[in-house]
Amino acid sequence: MKRAWLYARRSNDDDVTLESIENQLNIAREYCEKHGYKVAGESFDNHVTGMHFNREGIIQLTAMVEEGLLDAVIVKDLSRLGRHRTQTALFIDFLREYGVAVISATENLDTMKEEDDLLIGVRGVMNDYYAKDLANKIRAGYRQKQKAGLVIKPPFGYWKDKNTGMILLHPEASVTVRMIFSWYETDCGLKEIARRLNKLRRKTPGQIEDERCGKSGENYLWTNTTVKKILENECYTGLLLNHQTEIKNGKKTAVSEEKYIRHEGYFPVIIEREEWELVQGILRQIVRTAYGNKAVHRYAGLLFCGDCGNRFLPIVRHTQKKSRVEYICKSYQSYGREYCESHRIREEYLDNEVRQQAQKVYNRWLKELERTKMAMRLWELKRPKIKARVEELHRDVERLEEEIEEILMERMQG
Ligand SMILES: [Zn+2]
Repeated sequence: MKRAWLYARRSNDDDVTLESIENQLNIAREYCEKHGYKVAGESFDNHVTGMHFNREGIIQLTAMVEEGLLDAVIVKDLSRLGRHRTQTALFIDFLREYGVAVISATENLDTMKEEDDLLIGVRGVMNDYYAKDLANKIRAGYRQKQKAGLVIKPPFGYWKDKNTGMILLHPEASVTVRMIFSWYETDCGLKEIARRLNKLRRKTPGQIEDERCGKSGENYLWTNTTVKKILENECYTGLLLNHQTEIKNGKKTAVSEEKYIRHEGYFPVIIEREEWELVQGILRQIVRTAYGNKAVHRYAGLLFCGDCGNRFLPIVRHTQKKSRVEYICKSYQSYGREYCESHRIREEYLDNEVRQQAQKVYNRWLKELERTKMAMRLWELKRPKIKARVEELHRDVERLEEEIEEILMERMQG
C-alpha cells in the first residue's frame, strides 16, 4: 500500500471555513481512503504564508521524505503547498527526486504524471534552474534541516507532542522496550521474547502507529525481527541519527557512518548506554538458528546422520535460564518422523568428545616427545666418545696422506 502524508496550510487571508485545516485534512483523508493510500502522517501550518518553504509542517514532511517513508504528499489543492510558483516547482522537483508524488485532491493532479506535470509547469521552471545549477543548492537547503536535529517519526517507545514538538516517553511502549532489553540480558532469545510479548498482548510498533492514525487492524504480532530491531536501535540511549541516506542521481544511497549527523541526548533515555553496548555485544556473539542466517557454528557441515546420510543442522534451544546449541538430522527437521528419527546431539557433548580426542592426541605426542628427548640424551652421552673417534680417524687420514706423499716422493726420486 502506498504511504501518503497529508499536508494542510492556512494563511491569515484565507476563508476561515473553506480553508480550515480540518476541512483540508478531511478532503485529503477522503482521497486516501478512496484511492487506497495508507496515511503515514499529517502536518499543517496555520497562519503561515505560502511564499517560503521554511515552515514547520513542511519540515516535518521533508524529514519523512528523506527517510524514504513516503510515496505521496496529498494536499487539498496545490496552492496549499506554496504560493510562490518557482519555489513550489522546486519543492515538487525535490520530492520527485525521492520518488514522492504531490497529489492535489480537488484539482485531481499528480506531479508524477507527465501531462499533469506540464500543466503545473514544473518542468519549465526546473529547466531554467538546472541551467543555473541552482536546484542543487536549494535541495541542500532542505537537507540542512536535519543538522538541526529534526524528528521525523519518533521511534517505538516515544511519542511527539504536536503542540510543543517535544519528544516524550510513550507510557506503554517505553515499558515494552525495557522489558525486551531486560529479558534479552537474562538469556532470553528473540523468539522467546516475541512469544512472551504476544502472550502479554503488548502493542506492536505497527499497532501503535495505526492507532495514532486512527485506524484499527487485527493480528498484530511480535516477531523476532521486530524484537531485534528494537534491541539494535541506538535511539534508546538518547541518540538521534540523521542523514543516514541521501539521494544521488535520483537513487537513495546509504551514507557512510562517519557522515551521520549525531544528536546525543535527543530522546529521553530508556536504556543506559553501557547497558545498550552490553546488549550489542551479546547480539554479535550469539549463535542463531540455522534457517537463513550466516552465523558460523563449530560443527556445521561436518556432521551427517548415520541413518539417512543427511546433514545435521545446528539449532538453538532456549530454556528459561539459558540457550544451548544442538545439531539435528535435517531429514527429520524438514520432513518429520516419516523420513528419519529425531536424531540429535548437543554441541557441548561434541565439545567434550573433541576435547577428549584432543587430549588423547596430546598425550600421544607428549610420549613421543619424551622418547625423542631420551634418545637425544643417550646421544649426548655418547658424544665425547664419538668425537674422540672422529678425531682419531682424522689423524689416521692425515697420517695416510703423509704416507702417500712419502711414497710418491720416493718414486720420483727413485
Ligand atoms: Zn537422519
